Amino acid sequence: MFCCNIFRRYMKRYDNIVVGSGISGLTMTLLLAMNGRRVLLLEKGTHIGGSLCRFRKGQLSFDTGFHFTGGLNDGGILADILGLLGLRDMIEPLFIEDSSENRFIFESTGRSFEHPVGFANVKARFREYFPSESTAIDAYFDAVQSVCSRTPSLNIHDNLIAPPNLEEDYISLDAVLKEMTPDPLLRGLLSGYAMCYGVRPDEVSFANHCRMVQNFYESIAFVRDGGDGFIHAFKEKFKGYEVDIRCSTTIAELAEVSDSRVHRFVLSTGEEVSADSCVFTIHPSQVLSLLPEKQYSRAFASRVNGFEPSAGFFSLFARLKPGAASRTKSSIVSLFPDPDVNNLLDPEWGGTPALVIITSPDAPDPDGGKGICILEPSFPRHVAQWSDSRLGSRPEGYREYKERRVSAIREHLCSVFPHYLEGLEILDAGSMLTYKDYLNSPDGSAYGVKQKMRQFNMIGRLPLHNLYAAGQSALLPGVIGAMMSSLIVGRSVLGKDEYGRFLGRAA
Ligand SMILES: Cc1cc2nc3c(=O)[nH]c(=O)nc-3n(C[C@H](O)[C@H](O)[C@H](O)COP(=O)(O)OP(=O)(O)OC[C@H]3O[C@@H](n4cnc5c(N)ncnc54)[C@H](O)[C@@H]3O)c2cc1C
Repeated sequence: MFCCNIFRRYMKRYDNIVVGSGISGLTMTLLLAMNGRRVLLLEKGTHIGGSLCRFRKGQLSFDTGFHFTGGLNDGGILADILGLLGLRDMIEPLFIEDSSENRFIFESTGRSFEHPVGFANVKARFREYFPSESTAIDAYFDAVQSVCSRTPSLNIHDNLIAPPNLEEDYISLDAVLKEMTPDPLLRGLLSGYAMCYGVRPDEVSFANHCRMVQNFYESIAFVRDGGDGFIHAFKEKFKGYEVDIRCSTTIAELAEVSDSRVHRFVLSTGEEVSADSCVFTIHPSQVLSLLPEKQYSRAFASRVNGFEPSAGFFSLFARLKPGAASRTKSSIVSLFPDPDVNNLLDPEWGGTPALVIITSPDAPDPDGGKGICILEPSFPRHVAQWSDSRLGSRPEGYREYKERRVSAIREHLCSVFPHYLEGLEILDAGSMLTYKDYLNSPDGSAYGVKQKMRQFNMIGRLPLHNLYAAGQSALLPGVIGAMMSSLIVGRSVLGKDEYGRFLGRAA
């Protein structure tokens, strides 16, 4: 006891520790700091930002895990969250205005569908594309709005958080669409945004699909400077608060546990700190590995160990040479070789994979070249045989795998857009192992754990009561889902009343 008191006297004290500095950790840190808390933000990597971090190839910048988002329109959820955190004026949306800049191409049928801006416009355009399916289209869009209006956590000004227990949480997107329409192409179009959460339509609940895609129907925007735009805004904002940031630092041990609380946090640097609470925004399996075994039940462990990874991406980072660049607007093009998105997000799928092609809104390089990123869905099994190898010392077989994927993607792309044959200069390629290493994630998945129907995610208070879990795997993925998770969990950390006062001040 005497020993513990001595330790405590010399230990640095924080109100809260936040582990992981992706968009979830940044949001959590700022929320707590804005409410007067002294916060320690720990990041395993050498710099903060996680999936938001950009990197440079030649004269061009590329995004790692943030390309575009919905919800930045006036009244949109992301605009509201940024407003709440005082960041709205610090992040500049670059809206996609023209429907030709967001397209789904269904290659087997030769049909291409443009995606206009605004819920009513999307609905009207889809009715034009499928005149005999207008009843199904109306029913689908009505159902999306209905689910979102009955999900209280989507209203961030509301201090009430209800558990997701809608009827639509227990039925798959696939089942709903099959009930609505016999047309496989329309079903493919309506489930196309599953690429933005990486779960097959027959595995995701209709409710979670609605919560994810509603924002895309209202508006889609790039952001000035991509993910770095967010990081920069948070860094600026932190300057006004008591936030200590430690990179290349993790929690090595949760020490001195009593009364179901952790009293001492041993850092990987050997330093020991104390805090009222600690919020993990990292992958659930990484949280489990830190918890002392006797502090959780077998049922808890088997739930966490049972989470599956969402899809990831094999990615090409390329430069459009000036001629091709001048003909290509910043845009998002989804190439679907098969209308059934279940196939395209199936790890066992043997056909041609889908591609999502994102042409950057950044200014061209001095020679007129533009950055383009091409994402092909990928799954841990594709790289499983090299999963123990390390960055910089991967075996030859892995190099050959990457080369095969690069040429297959190039061939696929050029079969649809022949002008890329001469106009595309490939600068780099990344597999799920690349993401695994750069994002310090256990599997390199794009969206954390797969959000399967009837799954009970790891969110909020953990078996040790001053530990909490937030992050993309806790609620929903993407920048919006990750930020939402931090608001919901932050409300528990602060307490309902304090959070309510914060909402009042921010209004
Ligand atoms: C290729 C790709 C494209 C994507 N495109 C989009 C998009 O266009 N729009 C969109 O909204 N979303 C997109 N996403 C998803 C989006 O990036 C994520 O959902 C979101 O950024 C996750 O944020 P996070 O903070 O929960 O996790 P992360 O960004 O993964 O952050 C977790 C952080 O924790 C750190 N960490 C890990 N372990 C520890 C530890 N033990 N101690 C301390 N720190 C640790 C990591 O280094 C990392 O910095 C994409 C993802 C990928 C991979």
